[in-house]
Amino acid sequence: MAAADKSGPIADAAVADLESIRVQLDREIRRALLRLNTAPGEDTLIKAQGRVAAQVAAQIDAAMKVRGLTAIEGVLRDRAIESALAALGGVDLPVSVTTEVNAILKSQTKDIADVFNDASSTIRRAIALGTTTSASLSDLVDGVAGVIGTSVTRAQAAVDASVMAAGRTAVIRAATEAADGIVNLVYLYSGPKDSRNRPFCRVHVGKALTESGIAQANNGQGLPVDAFAGGYNCRHVWSPMTMAEAQRRRIEILE
Ligand SMILES: [Zn+2]
Repeated sequence: MAAADKSGPIADAAVADLESIRVQLDREIRRALLRLNTAPGEDTLIKAQGRVAAQVAAQIDAAMKVRGLTAIEGVLRDRAIESALAALGGVDLPVSVTTEVNAILKSQTKDIADVFNDASSTIRRAIALGTTTSASLSDLVDGVAGVIGTSVTRAQAAVDASVMAAGRTAVIRAATEAADGIVNLVYLYSGPKDSRNRPFCRVHVGKALTESGIAQANNGQGLPVDAFAGGYNCRHVWSPMTMAEAQRRRIEILE
């Protein structure tokens, strides 16, 4: 899964959370689909047309919503807040951080809701197709499991992005608060420098930006650079340091 090389205990825990949600969802939906098998020994779905198919589709919709979407939103929230707390070294979240984390979560949950709505309609179409053609139930079950797997993998990207964004936001807010307008801070763009770097990351990695430099920077993805750095699934983080320290270390500063 995409998160594997981002590692870190919080990202790992989120991967485990989502895997257990996927397993539960998969199990529940398989059970619902078995109701289509109205004629034991019969390998087609044609007999299950109509009312049963509609009930099964509704049951799957509900499972996607509760076991999938709602559960994943919970993971998103818990892990993002955990990541902000870890970035702050366990002190309470300042109100400014909580507000920004909530804004991040709001945009990410919308993405996840879209993913699950797409998946629900794909599954509904698959059931309709399976019951009007003579598709086998096992093919339908396999197809639906594939849709669930893909949705959870796509949701994983939103969870990863919100965990990273909450951590970056917390670091910047905490550093700003500690500097209290007295010390000039810059933020070193830290993280891997490799062939997977996006152009934005390749340009910025190893350089430091002032807060206004961050505010003016554009990752070309319509996502705020302070929280999302180079964009969705970016592996880079902001490391605060004093302007004087950056100058001493001859780090290029982008104002
Ligand atoms: Zn990056």
